[in-house]
Amino acid sequence: MATNLSPELLIVMAAGATAEQTEHVVARLQEVGVDARVSRGREATVIGAIGERELLATLPLEAYPGVEQVLPILKPYKLVAREISPDPTVIEARGRKIGDGWFGLIAGPCAVESSEQTLETARAVAAAGGTMLRGGAFKPRTSPYAFQGLGVEALAILREAREETGLPIVTELLDPRQLDEVAEVADVIQIGARNMQNFLLLAEIGRVDLPVLLKRGASASVEELLMAAEYVAKEGNERIILCERGIRTFERTTRYTLDLGSVAVLKNETHLPVIVDPSHAAGRADLVLPLARAAAAVGADGIIVEVHPRPEEALCDGPQQIPASEFGQFARDIEAIVALMGRTIG
Ligand code: PEP
Ligand code: MN
Repeated sequence: MATNLSPELLIVMAAGATAEQTEHVVARLQEVGVDARVSRGREATVIGAIGERELLATLPLEAYPGVEQVLPILKPYKLVAREISPDPTVIEARGRKIGDGWFGLIAGPCAVESSEQTLETARAVAAAGGTMLRGGAFKPRTSPYAFQGLGVEALAILREAREETGLPIVTELLDPRQLDEVAEVADVIQIGARNMQNFLLLAEIGRVDLPVLLKRGASASVEELLMAAEYVAKEGNERIILCERGIRTFERTTRYTLDLGSVAVLKNETHLPVIVDPSHAAGRADLVLPLARAAAAVGADGIIVEVHPRPEEALCDGPQQIPASEFGQFARDIEAIVALMGRTIG
């Protein structure tokens, strides 16, 4: 009888375990009121057991046929932990992929400002072989007097851009009341840095059948980011892309401080894809390429970059947006590092 188990466990099935043996373990867990999540990897099948210590302790799991090992998880995050999923998670939208061997090159304007501005950018992103098109419809601005985004009008423009280019759309959801409208157009829903710990929004997005791009809060720790992802996963949506976008430090030469160390840590800690936003971290267009290269080299699964046909006219984040006319060269420069890392743009 296993008596010294911690509240959450990983049950690793033996290489030769049968599907029936796995199902038997799951059924026994469920009978005692424990939630079981099965991950079938190339190497092994792992069952994550989420429930009370007392309930788990009633099951002699090590003795079940096909069970190789029972491991307690001591970390506060479970569903997003690397241990629970033997293979890295790959996020797919309209046939484009991010994670594992696929490097996501997401690009587009900070905000959708007009149909022409968005389509011009979308064409440049598509021509350069970008993976997805980004563009804010609802913008979280520090000042209530600043441009707040075109809202639903922008969603229609994004839809038009996808129809023309085939690029999947990444756009931010600010308010759960706009979920249905945003989900109708978005292929990936972005949760911005300012909302990383908006737990009601996270739970809401956890019930949606769309991938989520979750940005790290400017003052959030890596563990807090993983716990925010856990909120989404707990509701059933495990299609999550994490994004390092710079944190607030004493340094003033860049807008934020890009924490590339966090990317290396996250790659160890979670099976979820991890991407980098060099645009908001740098705050200056001239630093975006070197930071993006570093992101690819450190092992990030992609980047999200701001691009505008005429950055000097941008209504939001002009100084950091790459001119659309330069994006083709930018993409080729990134592709060289991506290839060195043994990956392909998704
Ligand atoms: C954005 O990507 O448009 C954005 C507002 O970024 P962040 O939430 O990282 O500030
Ligand atoms: Mn921006």
